[in-house]
Amino acid sequence: MAPVERDESRQVPDSARLRAERLREEVERHGRLYYVLDAPEIPDDEYDALFAELVGLEERYPVLRTPDSPTLRVGGRAADGFAKVPLVEPMLSLDNALGAEDLSAFLVRTAPFAGDSGYVCELKIDGLAVSLLYEDGFFVRGTTRGDGRVGEDVTANIRTIRNLPLRLSGEYPPSVEIRGEVLIQRDHFAELNALREERGEPLFANPRNAAAGSLRQLDPAIVAERRLSIFVYSMLNPEALALRTQQELLTRLGEMGLPVQPAWRACSPDEVAGFVEEWRGRRFDLPYATDGVVVKLNSLASWSELGSTSHAPRWAIAFKYPPEEKTTRVEDIVVSVGRTGALTPVAILAPVEVSGTVVRRASLHNEDELRRKDVRIGDLVRVRKAGEIIPEILGPVLEQRTGTEREFVMPDRCPACGGAVARLAGEAAVRCLNRASCPAQLKEGILHFASRNGMDIRGLGEKIVDQLVDRGMVHSPADLYDLGEEALARLDRMGGKSAQNLVAELRKSKERPFSNLLSALGIRFTGARGAEILAAAFLDMPSLQSAGEEELSSVDGVGPVTAEAIRSFFGQPENMRLLERLAEAGVKGALPAEGGAAGLEKEGARPFEGMRLVFTGEMRSMTRSEAEELARRLGGTCTSSVSGRTSLVVAGENPGSKIEKARSLGVRILDEQEFLKMAEAGGEGGQEKPREDGGA
Ligand code: NAD
Repeated sequence: MAPVERDESRQVPDSARLRAERLREEVERHGRLYYVLDAPEIPDDEYDALFAELVGLEERYPVLRTPDSPTLRVGGRAADGFAKVPLVEPMLSLDNALGAEDLSAFLVRTAPFAGDSGYVCELKIDGLAVSLLYEDGFFVRGTTRGDGRVGEDVTANIRTIRNLPLRLSGEYPPSVEIRGEVLIQRDHFAELNALREERGEPLFANPRNAAAGSLRQLDPAIVAERRLSIFVYSMLNPEALALRTQQELLTRLGEMGLPVQPAWRACSPDEVAGFVEEWRGRRFDLPYATDGVVVKLNSLASWSELGSTSHAPRWAIAFKYPPEEKTTRVEDIVVSVGRTGALTPVAILAPVEVSGTVVRRASLHNEDELRRKDVRIGDLVRVRKAGEIIPEILGPVLEQRTGTEREFVMPDRCPACGGAVARLAGEAAVRCLNRASCPAQLKEGILHFASRNGMDIRGLGEKIVDQLVDRGMVHSPADLYDLGEEALARLDRMGGKSAQNLVAELRKSKERPFSNLLSALGIRFTGARGAEILAAAFLDMPSLQSAGEEELSSVDGVGPVTAEAIRSFFGQPENMRLLERLAEAGVKGALPAEGGAAGLEKEGARPFEGMRLVFTGEMRSMTRSEAEELARRLGGTCTSSVSGRTSLVVAGENPGSKIEKARSLGVRILDEQEFLKMAEAGGEGGQEKPREDGGA
């Protein structure tokens, strides 16, 4: 063999050898950034192009295919911090079809194996591949793909995924390994990034990285906060159920209670292209990101016949929609002042349609980012939407610069109030320091107060808020409740009828639950989800206000930073004044809850809704963390220590001192049987059936 290799190698031009070496390094580096660190530096299509170029070179000069070439590997490496699990069968990648020609070539190549059953087209979910092991119907282990052969054990984190059943229903093999994709919905992704920006943490480039970064958090409480979802698409031993086609398999997975993305369809070879076309635009209506269509041979027998390469199966292909990237002109760069005073440079763009909507503005985040991208006023820029949702400027088209473009300089005073600005240590943002009377901060604060997750005051939009603040009619969110129809009717764009509606909306908003009020207040580091967690744990404002930092941090999903932010919120006199005035106005969420937890057992399906549970001792039928998970899924919050606010203590065998404390505080104590009985009242816990509109 050796002389042949030497022969071959002699024919490889130096340029190709050098290029291959360089590509290997680049692909390795970007693969690591993407798969291991969840922080890619380049867009996927650029990575795909590098990868394809390397594959091309290796095909042309096989001697260049070194044993460690990234083209022979799948994914990254298993990260530290999780136990490594060898995978029963490797978890592979998929070959890409980047256009119609690649797709037809795949159909031609596989035609002899398609038989009567043809193909199945599924949407390609842009998430993170996981493998799930169920034994005797119980979910026992979840792993990531890792390097394709050795995955990371992320069982505890996967248990927090609400639409994943911890028990299968119907008929299932005694031991079954299911494969699927963990994802984060676009709006949760946007919210997560907004919080990260507030915390000065680097943003996730797309929902897939956000889902991957979340699933590989070491703290399951943080994972739970991220609200991940899952769709499954395969099973390793379909023969155990005598399944013959992918179509039967997907149907059966659904019957087992597992969430399957519902858009899939069995297609004849002629129908495949139609499916791809149909979903090119429709996919933007889904609440989660999809980046293509996976076309699979329907017959499972053909899968074993065709087998796989080291990288991907031969019986499937991923058709990738080209990323929606457009160019447009930066007409201006303005500075917007946020609710917390952060000055954000925003590019005003010539309107351009990207991924289903018209984009007119794109945040440039902060001065460092603006400089790094070197975006100037007048530039032609490339834009796309991160995760099909957040407009993002990738960079200027340098060849198109004419020299007339202007660099933007961040103002040294707040553009809204003229007040001083400063860049605080450790922060990327420059902030306006005039918290008390900067109109921009007030306007943003009021819009946030009225937003959907907050007090949900319909009809209180930007134009109205601008006038209310500019005319001095509103100095704090509490002033909203003093507004009468007459005063409102005098505003521009406001007729008598709209004024009447707005007053009715304001009145309605007083009834919003405590969690909405908490979210409306915009306490730092607590998003809408954080507000839900806090509301479930503390039930009303007086209890939350009196909780110390330690008690706050003992709640699942509340970290020390958030706990401190909450304490600091209540420590500020102007916030206390605001809460008093809201209570005076009759805002229910600002008052003590009537009858405490009693009023909260409203939904039969969530018997622990609004309750705080503490587990102690060993349970017989499940582990402590399974029991906690069950309680959480049925609406409860679990904490580790007993306090006056604990609703229930569940005592297993050999309970610890918590039981004494519970007795002394008069907290209700349940044994395992009683707990399970109560849980059963809620069925197997809010396992939503997958729906196309957001069932994930
Ligand atoms: P892939 O995402 O292209 O396809 C394989 C994966 O698709 C499977 O592992 C599975 O998780 C998923 N999938 C989703 N829906 C599916 C369905 N219905 N049936 C079967 N599988 C389904 O391949 P990959 O190896 O996971 O990752 C490659 C991707 O990562 C490419 O898009 C590449 O651009 C990107 N990447 C980007 C960078 C970067 O720096 N930007 C670096 C490395 C990789």
